[in-house]
Amino acid sequence: MTVTIGIKGHCAHCDITFELKPWQLNAIAIEEPFDCPYCQRVLQLSCPRQLRQFKALDHWALVHPSMAVLTCVVLIVALVAEWVGLISVIGQLNVSLVVLLVHFLALRYARYRQRITLDLQAVLPVLPVEQLTRVASARLGEQ
Ligand SMILES: [Zn+2]
Repeated sequence: MTVTIGIKGHCAHCDITFELKPWQLNAIAIEEPFDCPYCQRVLQLSCPRQLRQFKALDHWALVHPSMAVLTCVVLIVALVAEWVGLISVIGQLNVSLVVLLVHFLALRYARYRQRITLDLQAVLPVLPVEQLTRVASARLGEQ
């Protein structure tokens, strides 16, 4: 995961919205439950629509580096075109301004798409009870 900014989680149990840390984002990505930092309940992203939205974030993370490359290429091409006399200085300036504008609009849109709040549902801890009974029966067997 390269996206870590702007993604928030909302705990359905204690009703607190918090910024998700990289390890929590990783846990969500591999659909592994993790503890709420406030109420210590085990949380999981169970909404399939939000899970799809979350997985699509990887594509939005690629917008930044690919736009940087594209903008640089267009700026260099425009500069070379002006040097060899294909376009005028004004033409070169216009092309540069337009590509810079497109660059910033694309980054703004990508950032807007990355700003989501995930509704995290508390999952019932089934396993610990099973483990407790196993530990209890093992202890009883020892005595
Ligand atoms: Zn909580």
